[in-house]
Amino acid sequence: MRVRVAVNGYGTIGKRVADAVRKQPDMELVGVTKTRPSFEAEAAIARGYKLYLSGKAERRAFDDAGLTVSGTLSDLIKEVDVVVDAAPDKVGQENAAIYRPAGVKSIFQGGEKANVAEASFNALANYAVGRGKQSLRVVSCNTTGLARAAAVVDRAWGVEAWEATIVRRAADPAESNRGPINGILPTLKLPSHHGPDVQSVLSDLPITTTAVVVPTTLMHVHVNHVRLRHPPADIGEVVRRFRATPRFRVFRAWEGIEGTPQVMEFARDRGLGFNDVMENVLWEQGMSLQGSDLRFFQAIHQESIVVPENIDAIRSMFDLAPNAEASILATDRALGLTAE
Ligand code: NAD
Repeated sequence: MRVRVAVNGYGTIGKRVADAVRKQPDMELVGVTKTRPSFEAEAAIARGYKLYLSGKAERRAFDDAGLTVSGTLSDLIKEVDVVVDAAPDKVGQENAAIYRPAGVKSIFQGGEKANVAEASFNALANYAVGRGKQSLRVVSCNTTGLARAAAVVDRAWGVEAWEATIVRRAADPAESNRGPINGILPTLKLPSHHGPDVQSVLSDLPITTTAVVVPTTLMHVHVNHVRLRHPPADIGEVVRRFRATPRFRVFRAWEGIEGTPQVMEFARDRGLGFNDVMENVLWEQGMSLQGSDLRFFQAIHQESIVVPENIDAIRSMFDLAPNAEASILATDRALGLTAE
């Protein structure tokens, strides 16, 4: 079976998900939507994607720009089994009212409230939840990073308590209208919303989070302090466990990755589409174990980390793989994400 997929909202996340869908042998990208003509709309056509009009998009604007449109969102929905909604925050909630009556399955992003869908999803944390569902929400970039790490650590050694401070990027690289460009803004809601969001995929995880926004566009960084129930003998075991898990990259000291600028340089050298880093990035020398206290940093490339999760969400909903491991392996292989 090849699942027919539409992407509604061809922006930062949507264009990456579209490329990722196209690379999966068990999926077919039928089309993507745009609200207005732009370089991204032109790029979609250049990639061979059929362009449809989303929401309030006007056909004339596309005609004037000389961009060929294949129809409207309603036309596209009739041709597909599932819509991946990657519209801006809160717009997915409005779009849900279109998908539901059309009887088409839908996947939403982390900018929506959890109740937009029947369940929240992360492949390592709760892959099986998608089975039989009409709608899923792939949790946000920060929540995905935390949920992945928590799934690994909790299964291996048990989590008694997890405290994470999230150092958040202020904007995505193309967002020239956001800030701050100077200053550090603490999120004055304690604890932050990320902890409960992680619990939307790992309900029993005792996690508390705080956040600060800093003037960078590259990545988020998480500072994690975990009290383990059954700690391993040494930190080497933790390093080996992360290295053995897909979607984690643990840099070694000699690789010279001091922080997010070098991670992005590594990404440019590696040359995956959009120079993405879809893995949680950890530093071997940035991990410590003192008794039952595990501490580690991780960096999260906000623009791409949820992309493989959207693919696994589709597989989970359509029962295309026997389990999480099989789906993750298939997704990562098709995306060119190799284990270390
Ligand atoms: P974006 O602004 O880059 O892209 C959204 C796209 O949707 C744009 O092309 C916009 O024109 C289009 N759009 C606007 N109104 C629409 C409508 N009514 N119907 C369909 N499309 C419409 O946003 P993004 O960063 O890709 O975010 C999309 C979702 O992914 C949000 O829920 C966001 O919270 C989530 N998310 C974003 C990031 C990130 O860092 N960018 C990370 C993880 C999750």
